[in-house]
Amino acid sequence: MTAPRYRAVKGTRDLLPPESERWDAAERLGRELFRSHGYGEIRTPALEDTALFARSVGETTDIVHKEMYTFPDRKGRSLTLRPENTAGVARAIIENGLAAGPMPLRLYYMGQQFRYERPQAGRYREFRQIGAELFGVPGPEAEAELLEMLFEFLRSLGFQKLSIALNSVGTAETRAAFGEAVREYLEPRASAFGADERRKLAENPLRLLDSRDPAVREALAGSPRVTDFLDAESREHHARVRVLLTEAGVPHYEEPSLVRGLDYYTRTVFEVISKDLSAQDAVLGGGRYDRLVESLGGPPLPAVGFAIGEDRLMQLAPYRAASRGLLLVLPQTREDLPDAFGVAREARRLGLAVEVDLLVRGFRKGMIRANALYEGAGELGWDPERLYALFLGEAERARSTVTIKSLSSGEQETVPRAALAEFLRARVPA
Ligand code: AMP
Repeated sequence: MTAPRYRAVKGTRDLLPPESERWDAAERLGRELFRSHGYGEIRTPALEDTALFARSVGETTDIVHKEMYTFPDRKGRSLTLRPENTAGVARAIIENGLAAGPMPLRLYYMGQQFRYERPQAGRYREFRQIGAELFGVPGPEAEAELLEMLFEFLRSLGFQKLSIALNSVGTAETRAAFGEAVREYLEPRASAFGADERRKLAENPLRLLDSRDPAVREALAGSPRVTDFLDAESREHHARVRVLLTEAGVPHYEEPSLVRGLDYYTRTVFEVISKDLSAQDAVLGGGRYDRLVESLGGPPLPAVGFAIGEDRLMQLAPYRAASRGLLLVLPQTREDLPDAFGVAREARRLGLAVEVDLLVRGFRKGMIRANALYEGAGELGWDPERLYALFLGEAERARSTVTIKSLSSGEQETVPRAALAEFLRARVPA
């Protein structure tokens, strides 16, 4: 093969069948489940005003500081490819008047996000997130309902052992006081930090808590914990979240060092980490963000949400999409093509997947392809027990019949063309 002239941009990739079908099946499971909990889908633009993210995600976060795809458009306006979707959702509900409408408001999204990160296993520059946001409920019931739904989704994808790491970051005041304490603790230990880490220490010490720098990780041992700075109400809220999750059978544990990298969280934060990912990489994250909508110019509106990294989810999920049956229609000559289309139409109406050999390779070559399909059925997402070849040739045309062969048993039957639908219904399950 000659080297391709064009390649996908670094950190981006193509999703091909059958992998894309596995994704699609997982997304459909999610959609069904979210709808059954009263969530409607929101699709926001991939492009937003840069200021939206600076204001919401936070000026001093890694995302805003060095990971955004930001560029001036042809009129010089600064635009950014969204690095996450919550800010866009918050903007959209304000702009469309939903933030002032009936509550609770439940929305989910699925889509691409963009971050200029160092690509590696499970980390891309274009990746996908599946997320849900619940607006208008200040109480811990919101977290409980959202996380139970999230867990049901994970279970439906075959995850058995995952558990939610849970913490509370309290109010803005908590974060400020805690940040100061972390700064005081780290300053005498900061000589080994890199320039970037020292900048964070000066600007926003909380940024250092999920740092990947080993010097920082070491210095953090024994540092103050956010839990010690919580106000009584946040404490009470957190305790109720835990009780409700236990009642709902949602596995969770306390993770006092969890603060999450985005600025907009208040009180509850959570993550799901899998042993199968490197220690710094989570499958999903989320939390409560009671101040975000107001800070973007909307009404005061409590909210809680999660974002699942779909790439990582699909990498880890034991789930296999249900395999399907396939009818391969093999016209012997071009003269048999119209008949082949007729048969295909009829079979599809019965819910079968059908492929017509448009290249009209004839029976022998057609069967080579059929057998290759049979051999690779598992990987290709087909059920080998339900693969059939259907022959349409001179003999069939002369007698108004069709011949059907099961690729798994090798058995072959000739049936009258007029009885085809009946035969398929009885013998070839969709
Ligand atoms: P965040 O918006 O940073 O809380 O991320 C939520 C989830 O999105 C993470 O837990 C990851 O699973 C996923 N994620 C974030 N960044 C990337 C990336 N660069 N590539 C793939 N997945 C990502």
